[in-house]
Amino acid sequence: MQENNEFVFKYADILEEGGLEVKLSPPPALYADVFDRPDILKKIRLELNFSVGGDSILLEGRVYAEMELECSRCADPIARAFEDSFDEVYPDTLEYIDTREVIRETVGLLAPIKVLCADACKGRCLVCGINRNRKTCGCSTGKMSAFEALKGLKIPDDNKNEKKKL
Ligand SMILES: [Zn+2]
Ligand SMILES: [Zn+2]
Repeated sequence: MQENNEFVFKYADILEEGGLEVKLSPPPALYADVFDRPDILKKIRLELNFSVGGDSILLEGRVYAEMELECSRCADPIARAFEDSFDEVYPDTLEYIDTREVIRETVGLLAPIKVLCADACKGRCLVCGINRNRKTCGCSTGKMSAFEALKGLKIPDDNKNEKKKL
C-alpha cells in the first residue's frame, strides 16, 4: 500500500482526529485516460469529508469539474461545469483508505454521453460541412444553390435530368 499519496489516508490518523476534511485540486491530466478525448477535463476540485462511525469510517465526497465537450450535432466546443457526490464506507479492518478508485469512477461518470451547444442546434451540413448555426448553405435547397447553378453552366439543358440521377 502506498502511503505517500494525497488520495491515500491512514485509518488510524482519521480515527485519532475524529474525522477529517480534505480539499484537493489534482492536475486534470491525472484523469486523462478516463475520457474519450484526453483534454476534455480542464479543472477539477475534490472535497473529501471523513466521519468516524462505530466500526467504520464514512467518506462523503464531492467532485467539481470544468470540462470542454463537443456538441454532438455541430462539434463546436462547449465549456460546462459538473458536480457530483459519492459515499463510501471503509471498515476498521483497513490500515489505509485509498480513495483513488471511487474518485476515478465518479469523475468518469460526470460528463453526459451526448451534449448539445443549444437545444435548437442546427448541426452541420452533411454535404459541405459548414456549421449551420452560423451560416446557411445552399446544399439543402439543391439546384437553387450557386454551386448547382455553376454546374448547370457546363451542362446543356437536355442533360439536366440525367445529371440529377447521378
Ligand atoms: Zn451544436
Ligand atoms: Zn451545405
